[in-house]
Amino acid sequence: MLVKACRGPLTQVLGPAWGAKGPKTWTPRTWAPSTVPARLCNISACSYKLRNVELHPLWKGPLDIPGGARQSPIDIRVRDSVFHPQLTPIKTLYDPNTCLHVWNNGYSFLVEFDDSTNKSVVCGGPLENPYRLKQFHFHWGANNDWGSEHTVDSKVFPAELHLVHWNCTKYRSFEEAIMEDNGLAVIGVFLKVGQHHSKLQKLVDILPSVRYKDSLTEFNYFDPSCFLPTCNDYWTYAGSLTTPPLTESVTWIIMKKPIEVDHSQLAVFRSLLYSSVGEDEKNMVDNFRPLQPLMNRTVHSTFQPALKLSEFKKEDTKSQRQQSV
Ligand SMILES: [Zn+2]
Repeated sequence: MLVKACRGPLTQVLGPAWGAKGPKTWTPRTWAPSTVPARLCNISACSYKLRNVELHPLWKGPLDIPGGARQSPIDIRVRDSVFHPQLTPIKTLYDPNTCLHVWNNGYSFLVEFDDSTNKSVVCGGPLENPYRLKQFHFHWGANNDWGSEHTVDSKVFPAELHLVHWNCTKYRSFEEAIMEDNGLAVIGVFLKVGQHHSKLQKLVDILPSVRYKDSLTEFNYFDPSCFLPTCNDYWTYAGSLTTPPLTESVTWIIMKKPIEVDHSQLAVFRSLLYSSVGEDEKNMVDNFRPLQPLMNRTVHSTFQPALKLSEFKKEDTKSQRQQSV
């Protein structure tokens, strides 16, 4: 098993989190304690508005945030999403031989793929053409009460998977696509605590070898379609990267049903470190961006949002009242 600290110079060239060009103004800084809002939401897990955490260098200024109208993540309001009957199921065709390695980029761990050919792609759904798989990574919390970036009716999940693809018809490279319209397609999958995920375990077993920032290890023959829920339903909306450069180039596809992993698997995620070898050890937890405003966007769905039983009763009472008037 090859374990090496490489990526240092490459990271500086390509950017902190996405292996792509970051904003020119972004400069990494050292850790410093500060107080930041936990999330811009009213999730029950965050009954306090502020908590003392150390701001990750990724989010220390100056950040070249585009300030646009389609930032991510968002809270998906199920009743406000619009059923789009023409949306087909997404289709993933992943060749496990394109899986290359896993590396700790100091914010998450990334499993990267050979994207020089069309061997691993996603198509269908809202996508006009195939998008090539570049990498996948996760976001997670310090405990099981929070961790996902997107939320559903303010419900937060312990973790969220992002499968990142780029538009290989319109653009020549991932680095080009990341800055452009319709450049990226990211599939988001919520993780909840439950059954052991046997396919995830192959990845979990290798994570101790990328405990420190900038460490990389070979990771071959892996098909991440094992992370897709059996239910095809999803929401889709136009958004952005959730890490710098925060460009508004992403078609988001958020799967409705979460997948299950067990507590011990998430515990290994939390044992990773933001720190490089020799630095003070900071556990890699709470690596999610706060919710962003929906602005004027519509979230489309492949399914009719179901009324809850209590809402049925409310509707029923209302119609009875109207009939009696
Ligand atoms: Zn992500």
